[in-house]
Amino acid sequence: MSEAREHEYDVLVLGAGPGGYTAAFRAADLGQRVALVERYPRLGGVCLNVGCIPSKALLHTASVIDQAAAMEEHGVSFGQPFIDIDKLRSFKNGVVDKLTGGLDGMARQRKVDIIQGTGAFDGPNAVRVETADGQKKLTFRNAIIAVGSQSLELGSMPWGDPRLMDSTDALELEDIPDQLLVIGGGIIGLEMACVYDALGSKVTVVELTPGLMPGTDPDLVKPLQRRISKRYASIHLETKVSQVDVADEGLVAHFEGKHSGTETFDRVLVAVGRTPNGGKINAKSAGVEVTSRGFIPTDQQMRTNVSHIFAIGDVVGQPMLAHKATHEGKVAAEVCAGEKSAFEARVIPSVAYTDPEIAWVGITEAEAKQQGMEYGVGKFPYAASGRAIGNDRTEGFTKLLFDKATDRIIGAGITGQYAGDLIAECALAIELGAEAGDIGLTIHPHPTLSESIGMAAEVFEGTVTDLYIPKKK
Ligand code: NAD
Repeated sequence: MSEAREHEYDVLVLGAGPGGYTAAFRAADLGQRVALVERYPRLGGVCLNVGCIPSKALLHTASVIDQAAAMEEHGVSFGQPFIDIDKLRSFKNGVVDKLTGGLDGMARQRKVDIIQGTGAFDGPNAVRVETADGQKKLTFRNAIIAVGSQSLELGSMPWGDPRLMDSTDALELEDIPDQLLVIGGGIIGLEMACVYDALGSKVTVVELTPGLMPGTDPDLVKPLQRRISKRYASIHLETKVSQVDVADEGLVAHFEGKHSGTETFDRVLVAVGRTPNGGKINAKSAGVEVTSRGFIPTDQQMRTNVSHIFAIGDVVGQPMLAHKATHEGKVAAEVCAGEKSAFEARVIPSVAYTDPEIAWVGITEAEAKQQGMEYGVGKFPYAASGRAIGNDRTEGFTKLLFDKATDRIIGAGITGQYAGDLIAECALAIELGAEAGDIGLTIHPHPTLSESIGMAAEVFEGTVTDLYIPKKK
């Protein structure tokens, strides 16, 4: 038996989220014999099944409801929406089915073996899988750990009461609560708040720190905060929920901090972060190092401390984003197949698909200041964009950061409609080392929101004509 065939599989991928299935497919495309082990019946992981994709289907619904209501001011009335929650849930589930079904088909076409069950290492070249038909032992030459993360559960909460939800439960859309409490003002909390607000819930958000979406440039968060402050029942900052009690009339939340007291809610969503699953796969038996927090350190080729075992995605570290995982997955698969590949992305964009959307990439102003960088800012408000005015969504702006020494773009932030789609141009500009002039001289189609990127560069250059900026004397 040749060395390559000494084990059953060339590559075993543990976990079939966006990182895992991408790694498996890429490895198969490179001629590797691949096993993909997944505990859930469907491929796609959290992102496709209970995360990015179903939440976007519901956020689209929320956006249509809000846009229809906003048209009343412009002479077009649709009346109050009638929400058939069962049909809406079916739409959301249908979106997920379409995508996961597509993955099944692509796995078959590539002859990737899918093994359904919970896998854990059994030595440095084997994984034991608990399947519905009993245990299976699979051996591998290389393994790629792509086991992701799970929601952090707060203690002192009545888990088991169906009115207490994590993000997966909230996406199930059991009903539309009259009063909803969202614990955690991060991306997940605010995206789900946006959905339930549009569906008619009165939403309260409680956030531990002094600002929503901590770590994000506060300038970018302001337009969102302004909009939701008007729409939501309350936003309590510097406040924590110390306890939730069960009562017949609802869940009674105890607040501590800036806003103290008790309030009763029909449902409570806990969205206080995610924790990596590195501690659950008996990595020790393979000699793979796992940190006390459950992360698995890797090098740029995505190799763990055991050179034939790789790790990718949420389990490797922040940011816990699907698009980071997929790129890491490709690198790991290529290295397994003997290619010279490394994860060398300069930047990874982030998006909160709230309304308005918030997107950023590269260095933030706070980071530039911290690093003592000489930087310049070009900022173009949506209020000066013909397209944003036509859309009647003038809140927000595009802000570009440039290194003053080189004129190269080093960071970007966009708040406003479609910010998540627009940020890709900024990511490309950073990857290519574009200068302000390259961006300003690129002809952006008129009238689009994308013009705001070109114009923000022109603001930095001092050549903009769509704003009047008095010359500094
Ligand atoms: P997060 O860490 O972004 O936000 C959690 C928030 O909860 C923080 O602001 C924190 O201060 C607050 N918090 C913690 N304990 C609290 C308490 N006891 N009371 C009140 N507030 C408390 O976590 P998340 O929003 O759950 O998201 C988890 C991960 O998933 C993130 O890493 C994110 O990158 C990823 N994600 C990304 C997207 C996206 O890209 N659109 C969407 C969803 C999730």
